[in-house]
Amino acid sequence: MDKPRLLEERPAREVIEKLKNEYPDAREILNFSNPLEMMVSIILAARSKDEAVNACTAELFKRYRTAKDYASAKPEDILKYIHGIMFASNKAKSIIGSCRIIEDKYGGRVPSEMSKLVELPGIGRKSANTILINAFGKAEGIPADTHVIRVSYRLGLADSQQPDEVEASLMKLVDKKDWGRIAYVIKFHGRAVCRAPIPICSKCAVASSCQKNGVSNSK
Ligand code: SF4
Repeated sequence: MDKPRLLEERPAREVIEKLKNEYPDAREILNFSNPLEMMVSIILAARSKDEAVNACTAELFKRYRTAKDYASAKPEDILKYIHGIMFASNKAKSIIGSCRIIEDKYGGRVPSEMSKLVELPGIGRKSANTILINAFGKAEGIPADTHVIRVSYRLGLADSQQPDEVEASLMKLVDKKDWGRIAYVIKFHGRAVCRAPIPICSKCAVASSCQKNGVSNSK
């Protein structure tokens, strides 16, 4: 495989600005109304479509309202609501396990610190970043999901496909005030245009700068 090409800082920042203008309404599309619902949605969203998660949380959130509700549930109780989600059984256990810790250690409140969030079952750094941004208005990093990794690598904003390395590259290129939004901007571009497996480069607003790392076929 060819060595990936990385954009210089100035064109990379120009690409980011163009994408920001292209997707002014980019935002989280998981439905939630409090930090607990955000956390549960994020656990369910791993390797699943956000729309599928929203479809099942509509009823789940009516039945389970507090960390204590989940902490005292059995996995099969929660599975009734989430059976259509990938890895539902493991995710039900993660939700219950996380809520037991939240009950025991944090008085029933989802913690707002990265170090505490990543210790909860089913929550890694990407998920913790997403919870901090959306539930607490705190951006400590940039959540690098599969879309963000794919698009950043193709464009040449990152020369790695490892989540931590993509996040670190973006944190150097993006002003901190935009850390909470940029992942959604890139994700929206990945869903609309820079799709997996075949990107629609003919409709791409940043095609003239793109390094097309790993792209062998496009529309
Ligand atoms: S030019 Fe193609 S590969 Fe590059 S960002 Fe646009 S859609 Fe993706």
